[in-house]
Order: sequence, then C-alpha cells, then structure tokens
Amino acid sequence: MQKIVLFGECMLELRQGGEGNIMHRSFAGDVFNTAVYLKRAFFEHQVSFMSGVGHDVISQELAANCQAEGLQTSLLRRSASHNPGIYLVQTDEHGERSFLYWRENSAARQMMKLLDDDIRNTVCKADLFFFSGISLAILAPEDRATFWQFLSELQEAGVTIAFDPNYRARLWQSEDDARHQFSLAFAASAIVLPGIEDFATLYGHQTLEDVVAFCAPFNIKELIIKNGPSSVFCKTEYCHFSLPVEPVKNVVDTTSAGDSFNGVYLGARQAGYDIKLAVELAAKAAGLVIQFPGAIVPNENFSELIRAQLLAFEHQAS
Ligand code: AMP
Repeated sequence: MQKIVLFGECMLELRQGGEGNIMHRSFAGDVFNTAVYLKRAFFEHQVSFMSGVGHDVISQELAANCQAEGLQTSLLRRSASHNPGIYLVQTDEHGERSFLYWRENSAARQMMKLLDDDIRNTVCKADLFFFSGISLAILAPEDRATFWQFLSELQEAGVTIAFDPNYRARLWQSEDDARHQFSLAFAASAIVLPGIEDFATLYGHQTLEDVVAFCAPFNIKELIIKNGPSSVFCKTEYCHFSLPVEPVKNVVDTTSAGDSFNGVYLGARQAGYDIKLAVELAAKAAGLVIQFPGAIVPNENFSELIRAQLLAFEHQAS
C-alpha cells in the first residue's frame, strides 16, 4: 500500500440543466477530482485529501463525500471563519458551458495558516505528494513561504513530489507571478504532468519541443505532457517517447479530463506499472470521463473500464 497525499481545493459544484432545469449539487476541484479517480482506480493505495474546510453544513457534506469515495480526511483542517468555495456551471442552448465562482474567501485558501505538526509528520511519511497550479494560485501571497518550506521538508523526508501546472489566468495576479511560482514547483517536483496548453498560454511555447527544452534544466524525473486527443509525450532521464490517444467521438464535457488522467497515471505508477501502461490506462480513463457531464462520473462505468483494462494488461503480459 502506498500513501498518497493530494493538496488542493474542493468546491460545491452547482449545475443547472436537464428536465425541469433543476440545480444539481456535487463536489469538485482539480486536485480533489484527481484524488477521487486515483482512489477509484487503485483502491489499495491510502489516498488522503489535504485541504481547508469550515464548520458549516456544506463542509460536513464535503468531508462525507470524501469518505464515501474512500479518501482519508485526517488532513482536512477546519477554519473557524471560512467556508468552502462554490461554483455554478451553466450550459447555454448551443451546449457552451460557462462558470461562475464564489471562491475568493474559501476555507481551502487558509490551509497554510491551518498547517500543524500533525500534518507535517503525517505527510512526511507519505510516498507521494501531489499539488497543482491551482493549489498554488489560491494561497495568499503571505502564505507561500510556509508552503515552500513545507515542500522542502517533504523532499528532505524523501517524499516524491508531483505537480500539474493547470494554469488558470484569472486566479493569478500576473503572468510573472505565476511563472515565478511555477519555476519553484518545477524545481521541487520529480513528476510533472502538464497540459501542453498551459505552456502555450503562459510561456508562448509553440511546439512540444519548446516545452521539452524549457523543462530540461529542471531535475524532473518523469515529464508527462498531455496534448488533448492527439498524444501524450513522456520523458524520463533515460528515454522519451510519444504515445497515441484514441480520440473520443462523443465528447460531452471535457471537465476533469486532465484530472482523471493524473489520478489514474499516478495511481498506476505507484502500483508499479511502467510509464507506457500507466499512460495507456490514464488516457482510457480520461477518454471515458469526457463522455459524461460533470467532473466526477458514475463510479460503475469508471471502475468497470479500469477493471477491464487492467485485465487486458494481465492477458497481454501472460
Ligand atoms: P487535455 O488536458 O485536454 O490535454 O486532456 C487530458 C487527457 O484527456 C489527454 O491526455 C487525453 O488522454 C484525454 N483526452 C482529452 N481530450 C480527448 C479526446 N477528445 N479524445 C480522447 N481523449 C481525450
């Protein structure tokens, strides 16, 4: 069993639509989605979601939702004065989605102020720690030093650090600010799982080669670059290769494609699968997730796909 900690924000998701234009409630957030899919695919890992919540009823539901997904909640901390963020997804008559957020004052943003020795000791014993550019973006500038200090304690303790930049311009004060924080994250991370668009938007990179050249000076052991339906590029200290993705025809909602990819990839790697099989499984999982609305798809469909794919791997190997 591997101990995996994922640090980020989970919000109440409100989704309007369908018959009667009813408001559906669920919980989502990039790192939370990753945690859910990791645990669903590889139940044997101990997966903890680290975040800030409040004392309110939504926070209780959020924690219960984590537990229902099999996530450990011992690294959730309660803010006395803050509550979870909320976002509303609306879909217009052409199927175009728009998002409205209420997250500026969320409890997750308080997490570095809520960090205690219990969290430090627990996470230092983990095998893997995952965070994203969104986890970074929501931290108050005065809390960043605490985060980087925490991360260096994890590195010293031998915890593998994994990062997805997941760049969201509106969450950052400036591009320079994001670039500076990302450079610290790239320097600290052994595994980096970016989408190619992050680099195009933030660094103006035109090609995959630009991205690979940019990442070269960092000591990244596993660089896995997601390029939508086109391919996934993998680079380690020893080799590099591109793997094809089977494009999905019936794309319903691409929310959480990268998150589900990350969760399944990291879970598979921690379970001992090689990079190629881990990417294959992760791409299959992401391909399924985008055929359903919302960030978190029905568990039955997801688990069935993972089980079938893992069986197929076993047959290939025998
Ligand atoms: P992205 O964040 O758009 O690069 O997508 C993350 C992952 O989701 C990709 O690496 C693919 O594995 C998968 N994916 C995204 N879009 C598609 C698509 N249209 N068809 C199949 N897989 C997709």
